Amino acid sequence: MIEVRNLSKTFGESTEVLKDISFRINKNDVVAVLGPSGTGKSTMLRCLNYLCVPTTGTIRIGDVTVDAAHHTKAEVRNLRRQSAMVFQSYNLFKNKTAKENVMEALVTVQKKPKAEAEEIALKFLKKVGMLDRQDFYPSKMSGGQQQRVGIARALAVNPNVLLFDEPTSALDPELVGEVLNTIKQLAEEETTMILVTHEIRFARNVANRILFMDGGRIAADGTPEEIIDAPQNPRLRQFLNFVSK
Ligand code: ADP
Ligand code: MG
Repeated sequence: MIEVRNLSKTFGESTEVLKDISFRINKNDVVAVLGPSGTGKSTMLRCLNYLCVPTTGTIRIGDVTVDAAHHTKAEVRNLRRQSAMVFQSYNLFKNKTAKENVMEALVTVQKKPKAEAEEIALKFLKKVGMLDRQDFYPSKMSGGQQQRVGIARALAVNPNVLLFDEPTSALDPELVGEVLNTIKQLAEEETTMILVTHEIRFARNVANRILFMDGGRIAADGTPEEIIDAPQNPRLRQFLNFVSK
């Protein structure tokens, strides 16, 4: 489903953030990405949809391949349609209701008729338990509710893969559970996803594969049992001791 080859990203002259990353992800995989902050996790995720343009490397999602060395606008547009991102800070439009936020890309990008977009929006708001808040503006929703709308918006465009960048780290502790439950439900329905998270226990329970990033590289790659229960890499051990399991 996803193939990343020799991905690197350097900001400016010399800030080498991603260093020759390669991995493959299968359909229905739930992949958690762990690692210290500043290690390139967000940059890696953003390269997958060219929100961040890689310095070198090839990204393939589904049947769309984009090579950093020679990419066209049309290829990038096609690549972006393969995935949908859920952001740490929700990034909802403040002047649109929950329903309008979910409809937005369906109407403007996918050019769906309004009635159809609305039907799809309601279907996914229902899925994340937000149907009764469909006409609420973001300012009238809790962070957890906004993030569930963010998830509905991502699901609505029918992506091949969902990309989550620390979806719960901006939330008050009591709101984390509702968002994790929503993500868990999607994982159980075999939604392909890559989830950058600090929630180690959640990653242990929900992911079938874990990537540990350190210093711009994938330092460990394995099953939750291998990575969390029996870590071999010294940096990974240090990381797991440092964060709360
Ligand atoms: P993580 O998500 O693992 O915390 P990031 O991918 O956000 O890490 O950042 C990795 C490194 O790249 C950091 O040192 C950060 O300062 C740097 N970085 C990220 N985005 C930019 C940018 N647009 N310009 C310059 N440096 C950046
Ligand atoms: Mg980050």
